[in-house]
Amino acid sequence: MNSRNVCHSLAVALRFGTTKLNRSGWNPSRRCNSISSMSGQLGGQLSYVQRMKMLQNLREKTGITEEVIRKGKCLVYYKGDPLLTENFSIAWMDFDDLQVEPKLFLENAMLLGMAERGEFQFAVQIVGFGKESKQAVLSKSQGSFTDFRLSLMMMPTYEASLASKAKAIFNWHRRNTHCAKCGSPSVRNSTASCRTCHKCEEVWYPTLSPVGIVLVADTTKSNLLLVRQGRHPKGMYSCIAGYVDSGETLEEGIRREVAEEVGLTVLSVDYKASQHWSFPTSNLMIGCHAIVNGNETLDVDTSELEDARWFSVEEVRRSLDSIKTNPLETMSAIKEGTDQFFVPPRGTLAHSLIDAWLSG
Ligand SMILES: [Zn+2]
Repeated sequence: MNSRNVCHSLAVALRFGTTKLNRSGWNPSRRCNSISSMSGQLGGQLSYVQRMKMLQNLREKTGITEEVIRKGKCLVYYKGDPLLTENFSIAWMDFDDLQVEPKLFLENAMLLGMAERGEFQFAVQIVGFGKESKQAVLSKSQGSFTDFRLSLMMMPTYEASLASKAKAIFNWHRRNTHCAKCGSPSVRNSTASCRTCHKCEEVWYPTLSPVGIVLVADTTKSNLLLVRQGRHPKGMYSCIAGYVDSGETLEEGIRREVAEEVGLTVLSVDYKASQHWSFPTSNLMIGCHAIVNGNETLDVDTSELEDARWFSVEEVRRSLDSIKTNPLETMSAIKEGTDQFFVPPRGTLAHSLIDAWLSG
């Protein structure tokens, strides 16, 4: 069974809108007094709670004004690739440097978050800004548009999370232009946190699919089971992963995926960490460690996997250390292919799960 396809069709909509019209869109005549006064009074760093309350206020009450835009920094995308510095950090830009009308900006932007100093963070796609916009951005920022997948592997964790969020939400809006209830065109709000159907008043929120990803070890804890799919770069082995089906718990989904893909019985599952991942759509990757009965014979589902193999802890550690030392060389190997075994690069949850196991 192709569990990826089957599970994808059953992907759980974790935020599925039924709220009636109680969230306003952008209104240039509406002033954002609470945001303005709060930022002005506090000046320095804001607490996490203060920032979340302010973002909630923008999303659910006031919408974004020109005043708010000018208080922010922008992560710029061109054809799906983010603008980064040569050190793979976000090359943040001021709204004024984009030289675009606020209305056009808002049609192509989304509210990402808020920095500790109270600076709003936006992501914006500049494809619709005219032919000269790309060169204008490049000349103002001295950054460059960087392959999205490479960016996620190389960026600091917090910034990679922002980049992944923006990509997923832009994609969701592009694919969900009409109401799923009545078929009428829907309209996004100014923060891009939802879409509203003005015919039936249904509100729709970006969806997220849960994916269980698990690093499997045998009961001796000296061997790790890694697998490769045909679409993996040559030489790379990773963790078992699969969508959690509707009606399943995370643990049940993991037990099923391990049984289906390699024919082993899971004895225990421990949650470790989670990560948003925007390939191929918006997924919440939920990472676990599992112990299996290593005395059982591997029974690999070749419709899902090209190979599954036990590796010693020492083999895995050598590969992980090599990636940590030379991350760009690893990315080059991924692009060009290698016969040598390697584990997923940094920036992926599989890498973090392996690292956590070896560190534990
Ligand atoms: Zn509708």
